[in-house]
This record gives sequence, structure tokens and C-alpha cells, in this order.
Amino acid sequence: RSRLLQPASDRKPETHPLTWRLRDDGQVVDLADYEAKEGYRAVRRVLNEHDPQSVIAAMKDANVRGRGGAGFSAGLKWSLTMQGGDMPRGYIVCNADEMEPGTFKDRLLMEQQPHLLIEGMILSAFANNARYGYIFLRGEYVESARVLTQALAEAREAGWLGPDIAGSGFDFDIALHTGAGRYICGEETALLNSLEGKRANPRAKPPFPGQSGAWGKPTVVNNVETLCNAPAVLLRGADWYQGLSGGRTDDGGTKLYGASGLVNRPGLWELPIGVTGREILDRAGGLRDGRNLKAWLPGGASTGFLLPEHLDLPLDFDTVGKEGSRLGTGLLTVVTEDQSMVSLLRNLEAFFARESCGWCTPCRDGLPWTVKLLMALERGEGEAGDVELLDKLAADCGPGLTFCAHAPGAAMPLQTALRHFRHEFEQGVRSPEDRARGASVSVGE
Ligand code: NAD
Repeated sequence: RSRLLQPASDRKPETHPLTWRLRDDGQVVDLADYEAKEGYRAVRRVLNEHDPQSVIAAMKDANVRGRGGAGFSAGLKWSLTMQGGDMPRGYIVCNADEMEPGTFKDRLLMEQQPHLLIEGMILSAFANNARYGYIFLRGEYVESARVLTQALAEAREAGWLGPDIAGSGFDFDIALHTGAGRYICGEETALLNSLEGKRANPRAKPPFPGQSGAWGKPTVVNNVETLCNAPAVLLRGADWYQGLSGGRTDDGGTKLYGASGLVNRPGLWELPIGVTGREILDRAGGLRDGRNLKAWLPGGASTGFLLPEHLDLPLDFDTVGKEGSRLGTGLLTVVTEDQSMVSLLRNLEAFFARESCGWCTPCRDGLPWTVKLLMALERGEGEAGDVELLDKLAADCGPGLTFCAHAPGAAMPLQTALRHFRHEFEQGVRSPEDRARGASVSVGE
């Protein structure tokens, strides 16, 4: 189970919109618990008293940015399906294919608080005039599937899903769809292909899903955590939500941040968006066994390595972008001084190579080649020019050169590691004399 490391006594509705209802024992917040704590109140109010445009305006004003990792404005995304004013009946798709290495935040929300997600999806459906929604769930999240299945049945039984929700005349229902365990299905257009029963290759964008998504209909694809923010925004207002960040950043709200790797207390915390890496590592109890920090990834394998000197930057969706990284999922992975960057990168790139869908050449052929070079450098059997070749292979995976963000995501940790720790890669290159003798150089651990 994912662990939230703030006790219930520290969490208040006014400051912890995502987690204040969670139980300390990790058990599920069932329908009765949820309804007793403001549950579905936003749905009742919004469906009876608001119109879709005012819901979209509130999400925009609150500056809710996509929590899947890219930080695109949720309100803006919700406004796109309705362009043309013909009130299309498309789909709401919750991207619950959480598979980013080091990331386990959506799992906590789904396993322990499924009704918050369902309520968020109903609000999104109302704003986009959708009749059906899908939760595309990572196949390995069997506990989430069990909990969500039960919660969907409870919600349907209580009239929160189905026809005429809360007497408003609005109809909406949700189906749970489990994936088959491929990272690429988290890419929204690959997800849509998979949902339609096709091979999970990404589609070209534009058209974005808001224009043409599932079965060609306007479709909103939102991450779990993004949708879980909607009930509080609509109940307490955009100004309150925006103010939660406490002036740290223009982004609104709180966020689930976390830490994993060689830290004393790996886990998750709901914190104002824009806290620093240092605050998160402090909460994680620092590094294990007195180790020293060498580098860190701010939000999963597809972000760029940051250095100890970046620990005081606000972790919002824009700031770390100026340092060659991006926030990603906000769950930190630490690298300590005794860890080899070459070995770490070999491991990460092997993951990306394995998970490539194989559609675009730089990704399909470039990533395995990258892994081969990294394995040689790791063994101390690299050749002159190998490090420069890694630069080139990473550049070939850059934004705009492939259909989707998989290859650019694979390039970002590699490029930042080559920039900050180039000497570690160069150490794995053997001299012409060593090569002639068939010897490798010693690259250490
Ligand atoms: P993206 O920036 O291309 O798109 C983000 C969202 O904004 C998408 O929904 C897209 O449709 C929308 N969008 C962007 N421009 C638009 C426009 N002009 N008009 C309408 N909509 C537009 O990023 P992406 O490829 O969806 O995702 C990359 C991110 O995913 C990375 O930041 C990475 O950290 C993260 N990621 C997360 C996981 C996970 O498990 N949560 C896994 C892998 C990657």
C-alpha cells in the first residue's frame, strides 16, 4: 500500500482538500464515511445550481494544473470539448495508468478514497456534457480495481451514478477498464487506442483528445489526482484553492509529494504546491545511514536530474523547467554519492527501451542502442566517441522528433546526467592501448 505520512489530526478540510478524509489505518473511506464528510456535496450543488461554463471558469481561476506530470491547465482542457457550442456528448477518461518509476500517489487515492475520484469525474462530465466515463487503470493495481469496483457499485446504488443524478436531470456513468501493464498506455492517445481495443501506439497530436478522442468523440483525459481536486474547488471556491499555495507559486492548490530511494521514511505528503525539495527530504527523514545527496529526480524517470544546489527551488510546474528538468509527478527519487550514474542510467534507459511501442525510429532503435553503449561504459569497455554518441542519440529523441513524449522523456534524464556527471561516463571509455590488450578500465561502483 502507498503510505501517507501525515496523521489525520494534522489534516484539515481547509488545508488538505485531497487527504483530510483518509483514515490513519489505511482502510477504505466508504460511501457512508465519504457522505458524512462533505462527500458528493459539490455534485449536488453544482449539478442543480451551476452551468458547465461556470464550472470550467472555476477550474481555470483556481489554476488547477494537470497532476499527471505535464501541468496543462485542467480548466482550459475542459473548455476545449465544448468549442463550437454544440454541446457534444463525448467521454471523460480518467488516466489511472500510473506507471512512472518512483510514483505511487494515484494508487493511494484510488485504494483508500475512491469516491473522491468518482465525484471529480461526475463534475468533469457535467462541465463537458459527457454521458459516459472510463477509468483506465494500471493492470497491476489489483487492489485499486477491487476498491473502485465496489465504490462504483455503491455510487450507482445511491444514485450518484446513472440517470438523473441528485434530481438534476443529468445522466452519467463510469466503467472501469484495466490495462495490460504497458507504460505507454499512460500516454493519453495510446491509452485511447488501447481503450478502443487497438494496439497501444500513440496518435499524432493535434487533434488533441478534446477535439477527437475516444471513438472520434471529444474526450477529456485527466489524471486521477487532477480530478480529485475538482470537488474542493467547486465547494470552497477558486480563490481559496488558489490561495493554498501560500504565494509560493502561481499554481493553485496542494499536491501529493513524495520521496523514495535511500531515504529514511519513504512515503507521501499532501503539501502546498511549490514546496521545495529540501522540505520534502526533511519530511522523509533525510538520507539513510548518513549518505550524501548527489542528485535527485523531482518526479519520475522521465524528468531531468537536479543537483543538491536545486533543493531550495519551488517544486511547481514551471520553475525546475528552467533547470533542464520538469516537475513530473512530484515524487522525488534520490541518488546518493555512492551510486553510479552510469549504472542508474543503464537501468532507466533499459526500462524506456523495453516500454517503447516501436512506432518511431529514434525511440525503437535509438533506445536499445543507448542501453548497449551504457552497458559497455558500465563494464569499462566503452570506445572513444561513445559518450558523444549518447549525446546524439538523446538529441534524436528530442521533443517534436517522435509521435509522443516517451522518447523525450527517456532523453531528459540521460541529457541531464551527461551534463552534470559527464566524467562518470567518460571514465568508462578505455584507451586504445587497453583496447589492444582487450582490457577494460575500472569504473568503480
Ligand atoms: P503534453 O505536455 O504533451 O500534454 C499534457 C496534456 O495537455 C495532454 O492531455 C494534452 O492533450 C494537453 N495539451 C497539450 N497541449 C495542448 C493543446 N495545444 N491543446 C489542447 N490540449 C493540449 O504531455 P504528455 O505527453 O501528455 O505527458 C508528459 C508528462 O507525463 C511528463 O511530464 C511526465 O512527467 C508525465 N508522465 C507521467 C506518468 C505517470 O505515471 N503519472 C508516466 C509517464 C509520464
